[in-house]
Amino acid sequence: MQARRKSSNVLLDTALQEFYGAADEMGLDEKLVSILSHSERRIHVSIPVEMDDGSVNVFDGYRVQHSTALGPSKGGIRFDSEVDMDECEALAMLMTWKCSLAGIPYGGGKGGVCCDPLNLSKKEKEKISRTYGARIEPIVGNWSDVPAPDMNTSGQEMVWIMDTISKMRGKLEPSLLTGKPIKYWGSQGRNEATGRGVATCGLEFMKVLDKNPDDVTAAVQGFGNVGSYTAKCLNEAGVKVVAISDITGSYYSENGINIRRAFEAIHSHPKKLLEGFEKVGNCEKIDNVLFADAEFLFPCARDGVLNRDTAGSVKAKYIVEGANGPITPDGDKILDDKGVLIIPDFLANSGGVIGSYFEWAQNLQGEFWPEEEYNNKLMNIMKGNFRLVWDYAEAKHLKMRRAATMAAIQRVADVLEMRGIFL
Ligand code: NAD
Repeated sequence: MQARRKSSNVLLDTALQEFYGAADEMGLDEKLVSILSHSERRIHVSIPVEMDDGSVNVFDGYRVQHSTALGPSKGGIRFDSEVDMDECEALAMLMTWKCSLAGIPYGGGKGGVCCDPLNLSKKEKEKISRTYGARIEPIVGNWSDVPAPDMNTSGQEMVWIMDTISKMRGKLEPSLLTGKPIKYWGSQGRNEATGRGVATCGLEFMKVLDKNPDDVTAAVQGFGNVGSYTAKCLNEAGVKVVAISDITGSYYSENGINIRRAFEAIHSHPKKLLEGFEKVGNCEKIDNVLFADAEFLFPCARDGVLNRDTAGSVKAKYIVEGANGPITPDGDKILDDKGVLIIPDFLANSGGVIGSYFEWAQNLQGEFWPEEEYNNKLMNIMKGNFRLVWDYAEAKHLKMRRAATMAAIQRVADVLEMRGIFL
């Protein structure tokens, strides 16, 4: 038996240990455990860029393909000063499980460039994107590896990368990556997809708990892409969203936050923040949205917010993880001891990657779906996936996180066995 991997990188080690734990509980064949604990391909590229002041900086770029057992690897490209190979590998592995659980024909990948995006001009970002794109060109493609935006990248970076690779190949390659702007091969509905999926999961959760959304209160941390649309979709379904937040603070109203007004507030703020919302939103500022008096909590801001210092003060009985990794292992234990039920991130926020799959499918066929069609398909898949994990967890007496991981690993393992061990 091959020795099991450990990593000094916390993110990678957590991903590996969660995988080993689930694999042991399932009794997964040790050969498959060895294969799936390693990534198929990890590449490190250098990206020389002539900066605006005439100097040259060489940035480090990465792309990891954890598994292509189910299909082309799928995962974002982030620009961040903490990006390294281990981080990309951990996130690529999580993408394998997320895509598997979502039931879409993708494996898992992740990439990024180590840089400080806040101190780069638009021109410098364009050069980084294009050179990174050229460097990873040999391993990306609509049937091999399909990147997407991630932290500090957007449709603009995707267009630069797609344009570069299309010109290198001498043909337009729109389906080579997703997250493109709607006016250029992007998809209606994609912007809201992750939040809509999180809310759909939350509403299914209420259904199995026999709760009427009209009687439910919720708090949502983060009012960016995921949090704002989660709050909006919950609200539209009748849920009273009593607290919202962003980096400027937490805002509470016992009678429910006016979500439409919150959208107006961020759209009229130069940095798209809720700053000053207590004045126009008829609500009060509170210390921390995570401790708000609400039955359901949707952490949709960032990782690690529910940890050994904060988890004990949570009042909610149910948590739906909209962000990636909002609960640390310590936080998980504390919440579990309190009897809090948690829907894990890679189930709850998979609406984003399911939406990316819809974009890819449209691009491959040269089709453009109406938004309603996109939203209905997304919600149907999310509801089905929630039920699948809920029933699996009930049948095997497991927590949702473990059940979701096991169901995801099982599909990849089954296909690996079918395809055989070759490359
Ligand atoms: P975003 O940058 O659009 O929004 C983040 C929000 O969180 C902002 O409102 C910001 O002010 C707030 N925030 C940041 N730190 C905070 C803190 N400490 N306390 C309170 N609020 C804070 O990002 P996003 O795209 O909404 O992503 C949020 C999370 O969801 C991330 O973990 C991301 O990895 C995950 N995610 C995003 C998508 C997607 O499609 N955007 C898909 C899957 C997972």
